[in-house]
Amino acid sequence: MSAKPLYKRVLLKVSGEALMGDGQYGINVETVDRIAGEVKQAIDIGAQVCLVIGGGNIFRGLSGAARGMDRASADYMGMLATVMNALAVQNALERMGHPTRVQSAIPMDTVCEPYIRRRAVRHMEKGRIVIFAAGTGNPFFTTDTAAALRAAEMGCGALYKGTSVDGVYDADPKKVETATRYETVSFDRVLNDNLKVMDASAVALCRENNIPIVVFNIRETGNLTRVLSGQGVATTVGGSDRQAA
Ligand code: UDP
Repeated sequence: MSAKPLYKRVLLKVSGEALMGDGQYGINVETVDRIAGEVKQAIDIGAQVCLVIGGGNIFRGLSGAARGMDRASADYMGMLATVMNALAVQNALERMGHPTRVQSAIPMDTVCEPYIRRRAVRHMEKGRIVIFAAGTGNPFFTTDTAAALRAAEMGCGALYKGTSVDGVYDADPKKVETATRYETVSFDRVLNDNLKVMDASAVALCRENNIPIVVFNIRETGNLTRVLSGQGVATTVGGSDRQAA
C-alpha cells in the first residue's frame, strides 16, 4: 500500500454513538467490527494508534443528572459505559488478530489494566493498540477531554476525531444550506465562534500542547487510512482559517 501516515503516533477518538450503527442505543457488533477494521488498516500503513472511546450510546451523565440523579454518580455510570465499549472494540480487534490492551482510568483489575502512562507507551512501541477507557476517571469531564489529555500524555502527533460529518463547517450544514467546510481552522476561531468540534476544554488542551485535531467522517469505509495519510476529506483544527474550495 502506498499510503503513509503523516504522524507516527495518533490518538483516535470514537464517540459511543458511532458504535450504534443505525440503532438508537447500545453496541452494534457489525459496526464495531467495521471500525476495528478501519483501525487495523491504519496500523497496516504503519501508524501507531491509541483510542479513546465515548459512552454516549449507553449512558451520559448529563442526561442522568437532568432526570434528578446526582451528577457525579451519573458521570461514573457514563465512565463505566465507556469500559463496555472499549471491551467490545478490543474484542473485535483481537478477533482480527491484532494484540490490544484496554487501560481504564478507573482501576478494575479483573477486567483490564489500570491506566499507566509508561506502560501504555511501551505497549504502543511493541505494536499493540491501546484503548483508554473510563475517560479521565473524573466526573464533570468528557471523553473528548480524555482524548486530548491522553494524546498529550502519549506524545501523539495529532488527535483524529471520527464523527458522522466530514469536517468542521462555519454553520450547521444540516440547517444552513450555504454552510462551508473549513479545510483548516485555528483553535481560536473554534473557541470564539463556538464551532462544534469537541468541548472547549478539549480544544484548549490541544491548543496548549500544539496537537492538531483532525475531524473526519468515520462512517465512510477506508476514510481513516485516507485522512491519516493526508488524502481524505477532513478539517484540521490548528492551522490558519482556510475554507474548502
Ligand atoms: N465521563 C466523565 N468523565 C470523563 C469522561 C466521561 O464523567 O472523563 C462520563 C460523562 O457522564 C459522559 C459519559 O461518561 O457523559 C460518556 O462520555 P461522553 O459523553 O464523552 O461520550 P461520547 O459523547 O463520546 O459518546
